[in-house]
Amino acid sequence: MSTKKCPECQAPFEPRRTTQLYCSASCSGRSRERRRRDTRRATARTSTQTLVALEHANGNARLLNAEKQHLRSLQSGTSVILSKSQETVLARDRVIDDQRTQLHLLANKYFDQSSQLAEAKAECVELKLEVSRILKTRNADLQDLMQIAVRMLQLTDHLGIPLDRPTAEIFHRRGWNTNISAESR
Ligand SMILES: [Zn+2]
Repeated sequence: MSTKKCPECQAPFEPRRTTQLYCSASCSGRSRERRRRDTRRATARTSTQTLVALEHANGNARLLNAEKQHLRSLQSGTSVILSKSQETVLARDRVIDDQRTQLHLLANKYFDQSSQLAEAKAECVELKLEVSRILKTRNADLQDLMQIAVRMLQLTDHLGIPLDRPTAEIFHRRGWNTNISAESR
């Protein structure tokens, strides 16, 4: 039988059987032991990787859940804020409506008052005109009265009748002269 090379210690050897791979039982044992170790390590590595992958997946799932929850709470918070701001806007609208109504009332009142004022002014102008008309009439009446008084004085003087007391009092009160001038007799 030809010489073989031991894959464990690389030494050349004469195999006793055709199936003999290693030079000695110790090399065979060492090799087997190493292969077992490798297998264990590989298994351990694989299970570690699986565990890591599982944990990753779990972590991802947890993150996703947390994100979902956060999103939900954000959404509910946002809807609460939205409804609150909607309420605020509605309340403000109501206040604005009230103020607008009051302004409208005030404007109407003001309009009424200013039209009343205009009416009062027009009335005042008319009253002034009336007063001046009355004064004019009164002056004309006074002129006529004085004319009649002078004529009566001339006549009573001509007839030699003295003025009666009430008439004399009227002349006195008005400051009219009761003396007849010479040329008017
Ligand atoms: Zn060997």
